[in-house]
Amino acid sequence: MIPQLGEEEAQAAAEAVRSGWVAQGPRVARFEQEFAALVGAGHGVAVSSCTTALHLALVVQDIGPGDEVIVPSFSFIATANAVRYVGATPVFADVDLDTGNLTVATVDAVRTSRTRAIIAVHQGGVPFDVVALRAAAAEWQVALVEDAACAAGSTAYGRPVGTGATIAAWSFHPRKLLTTGEGGMVTTDNADWAARLRRLREHGMNVSAAERHASAQPVLEQYLETAFNYRMTDIQAAIGLVQLGRLAELVRHRRALATRYHELLAPIGGLVPVRDPGHGQTNFQSFWVRIDRKYATGRDEVLAELAAAGVSARRGIMAAHLEPAYAEVTPAPLPVTERLTRDSLILPLHHALTEDDQDHIVSVLGKLAA
Ligand SMILES: *Cc1c(COP(=O)(O)O)cnc(C)c1O
Repeated sequence: MIPQLGEEEAQAAAEAVRSGWVAQGPRVARFEQEFAALVGAGHGVAVSSCTTALHLALVVQDIGPGDEVIVPSFSFIATANAVRYVGATPVFADVDLDTGNLTVATVDAVRTSRTRAIIAVHQGGVPFDVVALRAAAAEWQVALVEDAACAAGSTAYGRPVGTGATIAAWSFHPRKLLTTGEGGMVTTDNADWAARLRRLREHGMNVSAAERHASAQPVLEQYLETAFNYRMTDIQAAIGLVQLGRLAELVRHRRALATRYHELLAPIGGLVPVRDPGHGQTNFQSFWVRIDRKYATGRDEVLAELAAAGVSARRGIMAAHLEPAYAEVTPAPLPVTERLTRDSLILPLHHALTEDDQDHIVSVLGKLAA
């Protein structure tokens, strides 16, 4: 995905540099407020990435050794890794074939008495069923962390993904819709957690560096617990503030391109493109297409043919349990995960994609169908 960064972002970054305040400061505070308001959360705590956001979302709930955390294997590997950072055990659950997301049934199938939390991913921007999964987690008395890395601008039940989440983690990596170069955010309605998250990202200090510098009196800070340096810079936040203003238009444009893909792909049998689920709208952060048995060509060959035609499609979303880092884990069977990761690919969908590009891509796919 090609990030949409323009002159305004460059100007905003330059202003932050010229202001002399480049580390976490006033722009980070404003970015947190505006981002939290946009996704309908009470508090936003900016951090260095979604990976560190996920880590802190587990730390703030005191999840650790002996605890099991249910995650989809069908996700970027950071989702599962965050569980290991706190010494807990990731337990892989399967996903739904159409959405690529955890469901109440797939989570229930691997739940044990040691399950402390679920990290559910809004995969590729497709919202999971927040009403069903939040209700099930509450009934089971397990925490629900929402990995919303890909979901800025997606909606569930008519509201932004993030609204009503106990705690959610977001990414601003350039592969996501909204980018600050690197960066992340934790959002939550819980004021106590927000306060502790602010300390956890900054070495456990009871006063932030920004507050200390702003004070006329000397401030003697204390370090309340062993914590981390997961701060965002004001340069990143300056870029993020500009990007926030672009988000609605970015999503509108991507959805229009996705609709056109749907129309062009419809006559080709055997290709199943990702769509809005019944309960919400995706931002089409990833436009993945599943190849089913009716299609004549296998996924890897399709990728090779597309590359030969000058199209840089990518393999579909990975499955963490198939990676060497998780080789010693023997999960319950994950047939849908394995099928999706083996048979899907991600078509180019970015702001610079033209209708001619789309026609070209679909014509290659049409030839490989028969
Ligand atoms: C990209 C991604 C992450 C990691 O985000 P970073 O900001 O790069 O750390 C985590 N989870 C999912 C589902 C992602 O797609």
